[in-house]
Amino acid sequence: MNTLTISTISKTYSNGVSALSNVSLELGNGLFGLLGPNGAGKSTLMRTIATLQSPDTGTIHLNGINVLEKPLEIQKQLGYLPQEFGMYPTLTAETVLNHFAVLKGIKNAKQRKERVHYLLEQTNLFVHRSKKVGGFSGGMKRRLGIAQALLTNPSLIIVDEPTAGLDPTERNRFHNLLSALGEEAIVIFSTHLVDDVKELCTNMAILSEGKVLWSGIPEDAIEEMGGRIYGKHIHRADLPFYRSNFEVIAELLFRGKPQIIVHAHTKPGHDFEPLEPNLQHVYFSKIHAHQA
Ligand code: ADP
Repeated sequence: MNTLTISTISKTYSNGVSALSNVSLELGNGLFGLLGPNGAGKSTLMRTIATLQSPDTGTIHLNGINVLEKPLEIQKQLGYLPQEFGMYPTLTAETVLNHFAVLKGIKNAKQRKERVHYLLEQTNLFVHRSKKVGGFSGGMKRRLGIAQALLTNPSLIIVDEPTAGLDPTERNRFHNLLSALGEEAIVIFSTHLVDDVKELCTNMAILSEGKVLWSGIPEDAIEEMGGRIYGKHIHRADLPFYRSNFEVIAELLFRGKPQIIVHAHTKPGHDFEPLEPNLQHVYFSKIHAHQA
């Protein structure tokens, strides 16, 4: 079992943007979803954990090792897949992976080949190993990126927005791969899609404007919302009235008709329909409470 302890991390960029503010989280093996809108600070947090940039204050420990003081030691235990993963379009998948394996210090050619083949198989790319990476689909590129991140058998895997641009089949396949990795390592992935977290994560945090609004087990958050989520179809013109008189956490179009989702401790009116809470409601309500 691995543990990652993030304590009171803050970061303000030189342009004055406060990207992280007092972030504290405790993670173990399994999939951890970092959910938040664009600009929430997800990439900043991930780059900080991956020792690619320093925070202003705070500490991070991986299995007792101080990450910020011993970056080289951490990099050996870390697999990092950034949002934009540079590839070499004219090289084959096997050549690319072999190249990364050399860079990561796997010196023995036989060991290297074995590891590369093993990871190509793990990521379902073995049959494509002799194809040029430039012709790969988005999902295949992401999987090759993961194979690269796994070369040194990391205890901590960080993937930034892994499902962006993937079609549903590729996304599903990628989810399965991440789930399997979570059995032996801490896997952190960031997303702005609630569905990614709902389907996948054992633990999660909601981040907005650099702050952790909530962290824990998705099912617990959903249970907390029991009996507190109501929906109502309305006329578009009445929206301002509802916004000022109710805690409207979301405004949706349901089969072309405007619908509001309201958070309330008791039924807000006879024409409101109680809804079975889901993670989307949790997300909307935490973001709404933060902005209010
Ligand atoms: P996310 O990954 O959730 O979209 P980021 O960590 O990329 O969020 O960004 C958080 C905030 O910090 C945003 O307001 C962004 O514009 C700002 N930011 C990110 N990187 C830099 C940087 N290198 N210099 C200045 N501001 C930055």
